[in-house]
Amino acid sequence: MVFYPVTFQSRYFYEVDLNAIKEDRVAVKLAVHDFQGGEAVFNFPRIVPGIYGAMDFGRNIVQFKALANNDTLPVERLTVNSWKIRDAHRLTEIRYEVNDGWEEFGSGTTQGFYKSAESSFTEGKVFVINNNCLFGYFSGGEKWPVHIAVEKPAGLYAATSLRSQSKRPDKDDFYADNYRELVDNPVLYARPDTAKLQIGNTAVLVACYANSGQRIAPGIARNIRPLLENQRQYLGGALPVDHYTFLFYHTAHDRPNDYTGDGLEHSTSTLCLLNSQLDSAMLNNFVYGIASHEFFHILTPLNIHSEEIQNYDFLAPKMSRHIWLYEGLTEYATIHMPIKQELQSLEEFLSVLRQKAVQMNRFDNKIPLTELSQKAMERQEQYYNFYLKGALVSMCLDIRLRELSAGKYGTQEMMRDLAKRYGKDKPFRDDELFDVITTMTFPEMRAFFSDYIEGAVPLPLESYLAKAGIEFDEKRLRIQPMPHPTPEQLQLRKWWINQ
Ligand SMILES: [Zn+2]
Repeated sequence: MVFYPVTFQSRYFYEVDLNAIKEDRVAVKLAVHDFQGGEAVFNFPRIVPGIYGAMDFGRNIVQFKALANNDTLPVERLTVNSWKIRDAHRLTEIRYEVNDGWEEFGSGTTQGFYKSAESSFTEGKVFVINNNCLFGYFSGGEKWPVHIAVEKPAGLYAATSLRSQSKRPDKDDFYADNYRELVDNPVLYARPDTAKLQIGNTAVLVACYANSGQRIAPGIARNIRPLLENQRQYLGGALPVDHYTFLFYHTAHDRPNDYTGDGLEHSTSTLCLLNSQLDSAMLNNFVYGIASHEFFHILTPLNIHSEEIQNYDFLAPKMSRHIWLYEGLTEYATIHMPIKQELQSLEEFLSVLRQKAVQMNRFDNKIPLTELSQKAMERQEQYYNFYLKGALVSMCLDIRLRELSAGKYGTQEMMRDLAKRYGKDKPFRDDELFDVITTMTFPEMRAFFSDYIEGAVPLPLESYLAKAGIEFDEKRLRIQPMPHPTPEQLQLRKWWINQ
């Protein structure tokens, strides 16, 4: 690996003209000044955070050129994702063209995975931009700030959580502190169909594109407002982000009960794609379901994550042990919030738990969750278990914490304390997290983590639910309140789920 000294001036300045789409391709220019070093390697990601299969975003790049004013510099394509540029100290500009990953979502999109990590261009109408598809980075330059100037078609509006500025009606400027932040913030260009919500201290934007031309954002925003309000209260009132964006892209067809959806969550935004009938109740439900999980990601991984995530390697990422936390605890908050906030009956809540337990049994529960996390790419077929076993182990964690603290402390308080201790720019050490939580809480917790998350001891669902007066028959898969619970069991149940 060649070392490139990072100078104060080192940054990316990209220019894109969305009016000049040729053969469905976008042309990109990167201005380069004073590149230090004889050789440069310019890359596109093989993979991005939130997905666990290689995508090789370089495969959509054509006509790659490195220029020194009017000269073309020698370039060698090292892999599908990387280009080596010789005489890089002379480099003034890089140019290339980008093909999109899919056309209209739902038609001809059956091949390949992770559409929500790809980009799509429909001239003059809509651009779904995942920045990992359009913009690359130099090896050694992952931390350089990025500035992107976009010339845009008249009447299109850019929705994103990236910092942006619009000095002219036909031009937008976007800024990111580094490449990881750039990739974490997709952009949707469409005719304005937006609605704003103020949720405590957080400004939430709902931005939509519907190929039917119907305005759908206000209905979706009205529908998720009470959900977001309840999530805020569940998290203790103040949210750790000042803005959040829901990007929603819908294509309509007329086949009942047939829908294709895809979504990718980010720290302060979520991009969802849906191909379905045009039925506003259905669209509202779809976005509600997505928001009820994804919005909780403002806590983790955004504000609670390990170094592996902070210093993400876009070509060969090292996997953290803690997907049980990023996804499992997030999913637990999703199913726990409605009962804790008294929006759901005990019966409904128990039926959700039952479903999780039934589905979990279809997965390989002999592999510890920490190990599965580190092997997330090789064991993709097991990944969904983080939303099942990961959520149920988080539930056991919550019950145990409430028990040990006489009701004062549970996973809600733990998440808040971890977010305070760490934060957006302060990762934890991957191998230290369980010791840290143990120190923050109770010595008994270390054995809990060793057994059920680092180890493969079967989850103690029966005995833990019994602590709260809930009978769980694992063989017959029945779950119900005990007919004669003790006062202690009722007390713990109250602390845990307010029932
Ligand atoms: Zn998630």
